[in-house]
Amino acid sequence: MPAALWPFGFAFRRGRISQDAHPRGLTNPARFSARFSARCTPWGDLALNLKIRHRRLRRTETLRRMVRETHVRVDDLIFPMFVVAGSGVRSEIASMPGNFHLSVDRLAPEIDRVAQARVPAVLLFGLPENKDATGSEGYADDGVVQQAVAEIKRLAPDLCVVTDVCLCEYTSHGHCGVLSERGEVLNDPTLDLLTRMAISHAQAGADIVAPSDMMDGRVAAIRQGLDDAGLADTAIMSYAVKYASAFYGPFREAADSAPQFGDRRGYQMDPPNAREALREAATDIEEGADIIMVKPALAYLDILKSMRDSFTAPVAAYNVSGEFSMVKAAAARGWIDERRVVLETLTAIKRAGADLILTYHALDAAAWLEQ
Ligand SMILES: [Zn+2]
Repeated sequence: MPAALWPFGFAFRRGRISQDAHPRGLTNPARFSARFSARCTPWGDLALNLKIRHRRLRRTETLRRMVRETHVRVDDLIFPMFVVAGSGVRSEIASMPGNFHLSVDRLAPEIDRVAQARVPAVLLFGLPENKDATGSEGYADDGVVQQAVAEIKRLAPDLCVVTDVCLCEYTSHGHCGVLSERGEVLNDPTLDLLTRMAISHAQAGADIVAPSDMMDGRVAAIRQGLDDAGLADTAIMSYAVKYASAFYGPFREAADSAPQFGDRRGYQMDPPNAREALREAATDIEEGADIIMVKPALAYLDILKSMRDSFTAPVAAYNVSGEFSMVKAAAARGWIDERRVVLETLTAIKRAGADLILTYHALDAAAWLEQ
């Protein structure tokens, strides 16, 4: 240490002042003494007469609690679930530990867990018995999601049931819409099928339908369809801003929805685009979306923030399967503290502007938040 720094050496060694944590120049004694006077504590430690000390309000947990700006609440959480055809099925999804494929008759214990955790809502995905080119089980009145909605409403009438509205889990080709003869995903003919699916979910008792297909005009079509069917009170949570993301990997196993050819980049958003997200969301709000969603969450916190700043509608963020599975995998190896990482992640999503967070961590997080 240079001789000129000697008065500060003691404090540095004792860890009272971190050179790294201070703006450049603060530890330069010449500039330093011009700004601050210094004294010694009775214990011989250096004590500067700093007027502003940001650490004062971080000193105790009580103080930190009092000035905390962002709070994740159990009320913010939505728990996604995967319902499969058949009976007696409860099988863990390998890439998403703690998440299950459940047949309708095995839903009760899981719904009980959700209710016990006081998580207010579930989001349902369906895996049908049979798939075909137009995903017809997706809009069948006795489809797996339609049955699950009715069962959940019987088991827990107060639980909010949100349903995913998309064809990809139901089509043999795994795309989110119907195909032309040349294999293109057709926008306009898909809208009618999505509308039929949304109406059937709402008739089964869904509180909110959530179209995730990224076709243009689907919110308007679904809103009109619901209203015409006397379902004006059913809300629409639009996957308004859904990127063609590599973070969906584990979900495709969970929902058995991987495209059999090509990919979804022709309809989902291109990850580098931010202004386009505002246009997408504005269109959906104009068409009647009640809630707009950004998906995925973590790699798109800037997008979430711009949604919050630009719109007054509630904003949801989907903490997707890849984000979940990476945390689980690292935690299983002892590389991270799962609880702290999950709560920090959810806090970041909330701080960026989400009102609602769809997350596979919901039940664990709810328990941790209540502690
Ligand atoms: Zn889809």
